[in-house]
Order: sequence, then structure tokens, then C-alpha cells
Amino acid sequence: MSRTVYVNGEYLPEEEAKVSVFDRGFLFADGVYEVTSVLGGKLIDFGGHAKRLARSLSELEMDAPVTEEELLEIHRQLVSRNDIDDGLIYLQITRGAADRDFHYPADTAPTIVLFTQSKPGLADNPAAKAGIKVISVEDQRWGRRDIKTVQLLYPSMCKMAAKKAGADDAWLVEEGKVTEGTSNNAYIVKDGKIITRELSHDILHGITRAAVLRFAQEAQMVVEERAFTIDEAKDADEAFVTSASAFVMPVVEIDGAVLGDGKPGAVATRLREIYLDESRKTAI
Ligand code: PMP
Repeated sequence: MSRTVYVNGEYLPEEEAKVSVFDRGFLFADGVYEVTSVLGGKLIDFGGHAKRLARSLSELEMDAPVTEEELLEIHRQLVSRNDIDDGLIYLQITRGAADRDFHYPADTAPTIVLFTQSKPGLADNPAAKAGIKVISVEDQRWGRRDIKTVQLLYPSMCKMAAKKAGADDAWLVEEGKVTEGTSNNAYIVKDGKIITRELSHDILHGITRAAVLRFAQEAQMVVEERAFTIDEAKDADEAFVTSASAFVMPVVEIDGAVLGDGKPGAVATRLREIYLDESRKTAI
């Protein structure tokens, strides 16, 4: 069955959903995106994603083509028209189509596209029970990782390198310290303390990260926001990653070193439960 896709004000069958070859998203990766999870037909942390989108657009001096209320309505329409129970909504906004020029064009209407991906049982991913394996790779991305742009080729290369190495994902390392995962924020747990890199231009300010750290503090867990090395991670009691689509995902192996007993740790498991419970309560 054909999905309904939103393109520049219209709800279209996916075969008819098209953008121009002159679109700057295509020519310059001049665009930003968001991914919002849907559980039980409801949006998880929509407000956080909308806020980060506004910031990404403003950092790139791009106009928002729709208001936050309109954006919410489009998300809801797509959930309903595509009958999404569990899944994801992908949103991309680019600077629009214009003659190729490195300078930002004046008066070009932005392009806005949203589509859904159905993922039945998204919250019951079997990987969360087994935990995932990661490898470390050099972080060669640009210096403004806090802006959620569509330049995802390097993360894509790293995910392929992980796959070839028999792992599930990669952790990016810069100047000897872990920045984050290819598409998630990275954490270790040592002696009960949760350690994750502090916010800066070096990492994406994860919406799930913000929620998980808040829930951890509310549950009296100790959180330390600082960078850590791969050696420190290999020696940790447990590790995990967070993102809107994976929620809290335990990591059980780093560069071949098995953490703890090789099973998801107690802190990651507990935080996953709390995150899913609390997020379902506030889903809209
Ligand atoms: N870091 C990177 C590089 C990412 O691509 C993502 C997911 N988009 C995240 C962190 C996690 O962010 P969020 O929790 O908002 O999905």
C-alpha cells in the first residue's frame, strides 16, 4: 500500500512526492532534519524535536516554513493517514530549489518533506534484550554537530565499517575522547555513576539524552557530564546509547572488549524502562 507523504503543503501518494533536482538539500546537503518516534499512535517528545528544529534552522539562517502548531497537525495527519501505531516520522527542511550558488539564495521558499516509517513493536526491539556491540572510529565530521543537518555520509560510512567488523554501531573518537555514536549519544556507567560527554558544538544535543538525564536524576542516580576515553569505556561496568528511535539501548561490547557479564547492565535496563514508561505518559 502506498504511503502518504507530505511535501510543501500537500499530502501525496509516495510515488507523486517529488522535489527538484535544484534543491539545495540535494546539491549542498543544505538542510536539517528531525526524527520523532510514534508509540501507540502518539508522538514521543514532539516539543523537544520542534524546539531543536527551530534552533537548527536559525543557526543556518533558514526560515521555518510552518509554525509549531502546523507541524504538529502534519505529524498527526501522517500518523492517522498512514495508520501508524509504532514507528517514526522523518521531517526534512531544506533551503529550497535555486540555481546552484554557494551563497544562500534570497527569497527562495524552503522545501519541507515529512514521511512515516512503520516499525511494529518498536519498543520491544530484541537488540535491547541482548545489547549491541560497537567499534570505535575517528570522528571526522564537521565542527557543528549540534546542528542537525542532513550531512550523514560519514556516519553512514562508519555504520558500514561497524557492520563489516561484525558490530552493530560505531562510537566516534576525537582527540582520544568519545564524542557520541554515529546516530546516538554515548554513555558509560562506572561504580553506579552515569558518565556522558557534556553539551557543546561537538555533539548533537539529543532530545532523548535530555529526557534520560532528567529521569536519571529524578531516580537519584549520579550523572557526570564529561568526556571519556575508549579505554575507560572498555573498563566500564556497563554502557548504553540513546536516540529517539532506539530509546535507551544497552551496549555490551566495545572494540571486542566485553563489558561486565556481556549482558545489558542494570542501569541501562532500568533507564530504558523509566524512559519508555514516562514518555508514553506524556506522548501527544
Ligand atoms: N547524536 C547523533 C549524531 C544523532 O544522529 C542522533 C539521532 N538523531 C542523536 C545523537 C540522538 O538524538 P535524539 O535523542 O534527539 O534522537
